[in-house]
Amino acid sequence: MFSRRIGFLAIIISVLFVTTLTGANAKGNSAVINTDSINVRSGPGLSYPVIGSLKKGKEVDYLSASDDWLEIDWNGQTGWIASWLTSPKQSETVLPKTVVSKVNSLNIRTSPSIGSAILEKMNAGEEAIKTGQEGEWTAITFRGFEGWVHNEYITEIDSPKVESTPPPAEQAAKDSFFTVTVDALHVRKKADQSSKKIGMVHKGETYTVKEIDGNWVRINFSKKKEGWVYSFHGTFSGDNKKESTSQPELAYVTVLTNGTNIRSQATTSSDVVHRANAGDKLQIISTEGDWYRIQLADGNEAFVAKWVVSDDRNAPIKTADTKKEQAREPGTLKGLTIAIDAGHGGNDRGTTGTRGTDEKILTLLTAELLESKLKAAGADVIMTRDTDTYVSLRKRVAVGHLHAVDAFVSLHYDANPDSSITGFTTYYTKSTQKGLAESINKGLASTVQLRDRGVQPADYLVLRENMQDAILIELGFLSNPAEERILTTDVFREQATHGIYQGLLDYFDSK
Ligand SMILES: [Zn+2]
Repeated sequence: MFSRRIGFLAIIISVLFVTTLTGANAKGNSAVINTDSINVRSGPGLSYPVIGSLKKGKEVDYLSASDDWLEIDWNGQTGWIASWLTSPKQSETVLPKTVVSKVNSLNIRTSPSIGSAILEKMNAGEEAIKTGQEGEWTAITFRGFEGWVHNEYITEIDSPKVESTPPPAEQAAKDSFFTVTVDALHVRKKADQSSKKIGMVHKGETYTVKEIDGNWVRINFSKKKEGWVYSFHGTFSGDNKKESTSQPELAYVTVLTNGTNIRSQATTSSDVVHRANAGDKLQIISTEGDWYRIQLADGNEAFVAKWVVSDDRNAPIKTADTKKEQAREPGTLKGLTIAIDAGHGGNDRGTTGTRGTDEKILTLLTAELLESKLKAAGADVIMTRDTDTYVSLRKRVAVGHLHAVDAFVSLHYDANPDSSITGFTTYYTKSTQKGLAESINKGLASTVQLRDRGVQPADYLVLRENMQDAILIELGFLSNPAEERILTTDVFREQATHGIYQGLLDYFDSK
């Protein structure tokens, strides 16, 4: 699996860089024509002859500015345009956008074409960084893969999520270092993805940073050669220690799960420098957005995401130990904490039914009904969302960890390009989750009228990253018109939530 990925990487790298990401103009002497048409004159004044004209929106690089006039190159000769009819070009350092897959098994391809090779697949709700766009296709970076997905199957999230924030290139000072984090990375002549490739650098190699321009870094990649690389594909380190803006009192956070990543920068795309285990205390130096800057035992500084730790100062974690003191009563859910995860939300609509049903709305309605049933049976219920808002998959998992839930139930509705496909499916990722999946699927099969597609293993982030007993249910296909009609009824939701409740009850009673 891994070697296959590396093999493909060479292909991706050679096909990816078609689009331009950085719009920042290095020269800075650019203006945009902001009126319908303006004259180009042979000198800086209205009395000079007109030698041409420029249309609205046209961007021009100017050579000099004299009073109210800008000197431009006009087909090899000097021309002048009135600066009051232009606007300075916006500095458009494009922040990467996050895209979310609306479907399971979304193909990530080597090039923007349906016939190109498949590199990897994304499941519904998983996020990728958008790196470009070409017609119906969006270029993305996903788990280190760079490829293309069809626009129809993704949703763009308004603000970049913290998981995909680029390294703070603009903050890295000169004389800091850039370490490559992808297997192979092209070095280009200019800070532009369409610029000529002049070399290649590799994973783990570290270079002195000569200059930073937008998302590009100029490095010395061999004795005499310099070039530009895209900053997302590496991390910065070295003499770029910033003064932290606030100096909080000595404080600690507690790690929630084993193998928690401690990173070199406040971004999930940066290097993992250490792994911490559940219960480890980390000393906070400062807070940066959704990250804590921490001090490691060896004295070095690193970062940990806020959503994977608990803040000891104000949120004492409810541990499994204290909870288990409450007695389990057979036939009820007393003493159990169940997380209900309503799939999608906010900008991430999930799939859309043939009759226009939004998956995100249906999952929330189902979650609310399930919540009331589980509470009535005595359970403590944690909702990963209870409004139509976007919640990242990692945050959903972290909520389950924070509350040490006994079960994590993720609710989804399915879709397939083949509209004849119907039925419900219960998924698990780890073998330890299979028992819960089987019990809930059995409960569902006893209450709903849909085709039982059974219990199936699949790689879902909310299950894979989950330390709790977690399952994901696809409650029927919105892509089948007849099934969509059933799924949107109150009766179906009653049956489905009763089935899930029954499955949970049987599972815990049999333990
Ligand atoms: Zn879904």
